Amino acid sequence: MFEDLRDLYQEVIFDHNRNPRNFRVMDNADRKVDGFNPLCGDRLTLFLKMSGDIIEDASFQGSGCAISTASVSLMTEIIKGKTEAEAEQLFEIFHKMTTGKDEEIQLEAVGKLAVLAGVREYPARVKCATLAWHTLDAALKNQQQPVSTE
Ligand code: ZN
Repeated sequence: MFEDLRDLYQEVIFDHNRNPRNFRVMDNADRKVDGFNPLCGDRLTLFLKMSGDIIEDASFQGSGCAISTASVSLMTEIIKGKTEAEAEQLFEIFHKMTTGKDEEIQLEAVGKLAVLAGVREYPARVKCATLAWHTLDAALKNQQQPVSTE
């Protein structure tokens, strides 16, 4: 049963890596921040279109490993339509989940992001999964300088 679940999770990660969602340059973006994970070499540029404090649209460009690509692809899907506060809260829950600080996975809150919970068993990969979110955090705080996980 647990093995089946693991296979399903891996399948979702492979799918988002092969066919990343929202993989495009956004010409009319309100926020644009670069993120870099030197440990693995993952690079991405995150674009946000804001409407008041609501994230109206999100997209990204870049190249990285399967975990980082799946993570940013899933993130751009889930944050659309969320307020800044909701997105920040999701980042906090996601961070606790991937670093193992929260044993219980809050499925209702994280939804499909739960597929990335497995990285907690591989400390070197945690930054691959959280790079997108650190970049989002900077974008929401309207920081312009590139984000590095180191
Ligand atoms: Zn990586």
